[in-house]
Amino acid sequence: MENMAKLPINIVGDKILRQKAKKVTTTDDSTVEFIKDMFDTLHASDGVGLAANQVGSRDAILIADLSHVEGYEETDPIVVINPKIIKSEGNSTYEEGCLSLPGIKLEITRPEKVLLRYQDTDLNTHEENFSGLFARVIQHEIDHLNGKLIIDYLEEEALKNLEPELQKLKAREIEVPYSVSVHEAF
Ligand SMILES: [Zn+2]
Repeated sequence: MENMAKLPINIVGDKILRQKAKKVTTTDDSTVEFIKDMFDTLHASDGVGLAANQVGSRDAILIADLSHVEGYEETDPIVVINPKIIKSEGNSTYEEGCLSLPGIKLEITRPEKVLLRYQDTDLNTHEENFSGLFARVIQHEIDHLNGKLIIDYLEEEALKNLEPELQKLKAREIEVPYSVSVHEAF
């Protein structure tokens, strides 16, 4: 049997989603193993991107894989450690979902192009331009690493309207086609 390790995904209400990630200063086999588990989790949930705090780690790591998205079949999956956007350009609005907010889709406006500085698993630094959906996914995941969710882009009124749905998610009164974290008692 293949060594697959799918991690439960934290959903809205879990504290770790509101915590800022910590800079990764050393990597080893366990880092590589964790990233492999992140990809297994991402693929099993049919997502395009995942941040480490969505699966229980405070490390500043995100992954993206758009190879199953039309128009992005030729793109390689990417592992991004300690990301920093050093330049951004343009604006675009697009409907986003989030594995930590199952069932919720929101129109989010973000820069269209970004120049990203990041490190790989050997902590070598790279600078790379991203645009379109790739730039969007990376910015969404960087938000996660800063403790930010797409609902934070909503105006007060729209957030209020969404509150009953968020309460259901927080209480796990929902059906999700992937494994989610256990509801924290309160
Ligand atoms: Zn998300």
